[in-house]
Amino acid sequence: MAKENQFVEQIADINADFPQWYTDVVLKTKLVDYGPVKGTMVIRPYGYAIWENIQNEMNARFKKRGVENAYFPLLIPMSYFTKEAEHVEGFAPEVAVVTHAGGEELSEPLAIRPTSETIIGTMMAKWVQSYRDLPLKVNQWCNVMRWEKTTRPFLRTSEFLWQEGHTAHASQQEAEEETLAMLEIYKEFAENCLAIPVLTGRKTEKEKFAGAVATYTIEAMMRDGKSLQSGTSHYLGQNFATAFDIKYLGNEGVLQTAYTTSWGVSTRLIGAVIMTHGDERGLVLPPVVAPIQCVIVPIAARKGGVIEACEALKAELEAAGVRVTLDNTDNSPGWKFNEWEMKGVPVRIELGPRDIEAGKMLCARRDTLEKQEMPLSGAADSVKELLATVQKDMLEAARKRRDERIIYADDMAGILAGVEAGKFVKAGWCGCRKCEDKIKEETAATARVFAEGETTEKCAVCGEKAAHVIVYARAY
Ligand code: ZN
Repeated sequence: MAKENQFVEQIADINADFPQWYTDVVLKTKLVDYGPVKGTMVIRPYGYAIWENIQNEMNARFKKRGVENAYFPLLIPMSYFTKEAEHVEGFAPEVAVVTHAGGEELSEPLAIRPTSETIIGTMMAKWVQSYRDLPLKVNQWCNVMRWEKTTRPFLRTSEFLWQEGHTAHASQQEAEEETLAMLEIYKEFAENCLAIPVLTGRKTEKEKFAGAVATYTIEAMMRDGKSLQSGTSHYLGQNFATAFDIKYLGNEGVLQTAYTTSWGVSTRLIGAVIMTHGDERGLVLPPVVAPIQCVIVPIAARKGGVIEACEALKAELEAAGVRVTLDNTDNSPGWKFNEWEMKGVPVRIELGPRDIEAGKMLCARRDTLEKQEMPLSGAADSVKELLATVQKDMLEAARKRRDERIIYADDMAGILAGVEAGKFVKAGWCGCRKCEDKIKEETAATARVFAEGETTEKCAVCGEKAAHVIVYARAY
């Protein structure tokens, strides 16, 4: 019977060694594997299916806002990057460059896109002629490359998948509204689809996107108390529009410069899901994005009628739109329970001869590990209802865990003690870069986001009057 525990034993203790737990979970649940080039990852079918569900949910939201999907080339002439001074400086250390192709040295080196503002800006300049062409809203799903020294699957890899939305507008107000509307979409998506509560707000100058006027973020707390920047929305002002000449003829016949935005979320979100909800048994996936929402495990499968009843139940759930699988392998039920728990399937149904005879099924929730009997008749409705409950409860549980770990501090010692204990720490800030740098040096925490609307008396570093309240945390 030792075999029954083999999966549980293989995952490191989440409380003792969180990084190792994470590595064990992503590899053993077959979400990813390492690529042959250091810092690259292979997203396996179980992981990619989560990404596809994220894409479907996101696309529906983008389309409602009039954003259309398009595709732009992977290779960008290096000269494009030098057009926006802050942008090139910010990305220079991470850009991978193609210098040779077709057996020859290229006349101009080509960047492998780390992000596409430059090439999309160039194309927008061509497509935008008059005010009638605005707003222009495009999004692309693609891979990007940012050369990284230390990497971890989903969280930081040299190549990753993401969506990048880019919009151009006639007025500053409209562009700013778009930036904030996308931030709101990311927040709603994180909460309702991923069951991840997020803090939203603006980033400091030091932490903002290279070339942006303002960067807004959704920040999520992981199980270890660290923060994960899970999506960003940038108001680019006229920085890129000026650099790439995105001009339009206004309705009064005057040539004007457009205002642009860009915003993105990446496969990092999968890392956020793993590290927000996971437990000592492995993954806990929110039903909306879980590749498999429900697994049926036959009990005493060789007894007459059991498999048939399981198959009928599977067909009924499938017809109702539930992503369901029947584990018909010859492993023991206990072994199956461990495996599907490790893979984070939200609901498990156990069905054996006695259940069938009584017209019942046993449903086990992955999030709370609670079991409940339910009638077999009307199974599709009750399973869908249970999935909705799991989804909602996961968000509330994550919110409770997070809120219990947000504290206030008045000074550097308080910030250090807080982040050491795996907390988000709110503290006053005078607004100067020196104080922000000092926090990072002394506590390894960074300013994650402005706590907008909150006020306090003093800067936790210098004691001068505080202009803002900042949420500090150590971050991935
Ligand atoms: Zn200060």
